[in-house]
Amino acid sequence: MTAVGHTGPASATDPDVVLVGGGIMSATLSALLGIVAPDWTVQVFESGEAVAGESSGPWNNAGTGHSALCELNYTPARPDGTVDASKAVGINEQFQVSRQFWSHLVRAGLTDSPRSFITSVPHISFVTGPEGRTYMRNRYEALAAEPLFAGLEYSDSPAELDSWVPLMMAQRDRSEVVAATRSLSGTDVNFGALTRLLVDAAVRRGVQLHVRHRVLKVRRDGDRWATTVRDLATGSTRTVRSRFVFVGAGGGALPLLQGAGIPEIRGFGGFPVSGQFLRTRNPALVARHQAKVYGQAKVGAPPMSVPHLDLRLIDGEQSLLFGPYAGFSPKFLKAGSMWDLPRSVRTGNLGSMLGAGKANIPLTRYLVGQVLQSTRSRFRALEEFVPTAESDDWELITAGQRVQVIKQDPTSGRGVLQFGTELIVGADGSIAGLLGASPGASTAVAAMLTLLERSFGDRMDEWRPKLQEAIPSYGHQLSADPALFAEVHAETTRTLQLEG
Ligand SMILES: Cc1cc2nc3c(=O)[nH]c(=O)nc-3n(C[C@H](O)[C@H](O)[C@H](O)COP(=O)(O)OP(=O)(O)OC[C@H]3O[C@@H](n4cnc5c(N)ncnc54)[C@H](O)[C@@H]3O)c2cc1C
Repeated sequence: MTAVGHTGPASATDPDVVLVGGGIMSATLSALLGIVAPDWTVQVFESGEAVAGESSGPWNNAGTGHSALCELNYTPARPDGTVDASKAVGINEQFQVSRQFWSHLVRAGLTDSPRSFITSVPHISFVTGPEGRTYMRNRYEALAAEPLFAGLEYSDSPAELDSWVPLMMAQRDRSEVVAATRSLSGTDVNFGALTRLLVDAAVRRGVQLHVRHRVLKVRRDGDRWATTVRDLATGSTRTVRSRFVFVGAGGGALPLLQGAGIPEIRGFGGFPVSGQFLRTRNPALVARHQAKVYGQAKVGAPPMSVPHLDLRLIDGEQSLLFGPYAGFSPKFLKAGSMWDLPRSVRTGNLGSMLGAGKANIPLTRYLVGQVLQSTRSRFRALEEFVPTAESDDWELITAGQRVQVIKQDPTSGRGVLQFGTELIVGADGSIAGLLGASPGASTAVAAMLTLLERSFGDRMDEWRPKLQEAIPSYGHQLSADPALFAEVHAETTRTLQLEG
């Protein structure tokens, strides 16, 4: 179903497209529209002082270019101990789509310095104990057979791990069983810098960006969507009408979609989980940890709480982040309101919310434990990674809010909490929004391509060649085409100035 028949805007001030929110998702969609429909008029409304102030900001997320090279939650063990690699392959495939699109934009002049937003950082998975080692070996065997994971290395030799992760091995008990895999194709991504580059490029081609403009409501108005916006500088409100609206408001998306009254949002709820990290900028420590290292989540802990120690490269400075530590806040955005959670409960989602609460007692217990934990116990988690950690080197920082999706299970009818992202598209395709936060920013391009397909299905024959020029694997599965993968991987490595 086509949402926008380009007949020109309804008035001089009404655009074809409204994008709510200036995070990585809206920025990516505006870049894709610049390729397939460059003559469409687009307006972006962002409530913050600048774009990328919420989850897409570099200190609000971990900056991992999620490609399942190191995140153990994407490679579950089966009952017989073998490892299921299918989810990992899918996540990696989506990141290759991002790499290709970013490369295309760099070739087209997005920036001379792709290292301002993406850099090579080895991705390592690290476990301890004999059971962990068996799982790690099985995981390595499952992934090594997959073309997208070429070059993955396995080691359970402490001497070798001394060179992979010197900071983590220093003064570690030499009798402890350790095992790890390493991929040199991993990346650290500054999604905030990338968002700014994408939005700057969009503005250069005529997209109108309005910061300090909060969208109050989106509602149907004939064959258009009326978006009511408050200018936070003057307090005045105005309404713009567009044929298509994308609610890329991150944590702010759920209430706006609920307010739009589309049936597709019925049954959905959100549960906010806040995140904190320990950060060090001590150059001596950073020099001894030039990697992103993911461990295993504790029993009962949700996937987004997998502990990891990450090298970050932000605005030319290296630092280490450890976490995340989960917390509870009823706000849906860092700059949100304490009423966000209670206000999101409607008759349409009350059942899902209550059902999810009942079915997720272990998560609730985990969150309560996290909120109540002392500084000392928080530090103990870091010491499991870095036995020589000194508290003076580390400071606690608050990261972004995640609003985990609660949805109704179609078979049982019960509410379930899920940890992925959910694209909500209205029946005629003219409104869409994104809920949830995982695997998140890394897969923004794949998510926004799906949006184009669902909202503008009958334009895809016309748009496909343009998209294939930008993303050579579009419409193909790289995991089933090793030759094409080798080609695009080599090209993106060269263009993005990566090492693998
Ligand atoms: C702790 C943490 C760690 C993470 N780690 C990673 C990681 O390592 N790798 C990864 O790929 N992803 C990660 N993510 C997920 C990733 O950050 C998000 O998926 C991504 O940034 C979401 O982008 P977005 O554009 O949807 O939302 P956001 O970046 O939150 O942008 C939404 C924008 O909408 C604006 N807005 C909201 N309401 C309104 C309104 N009513 N009117 C106008 N503007 C509005 C907000 O101010 C904000 O700027 C992490 C997230 C968190 C919280």
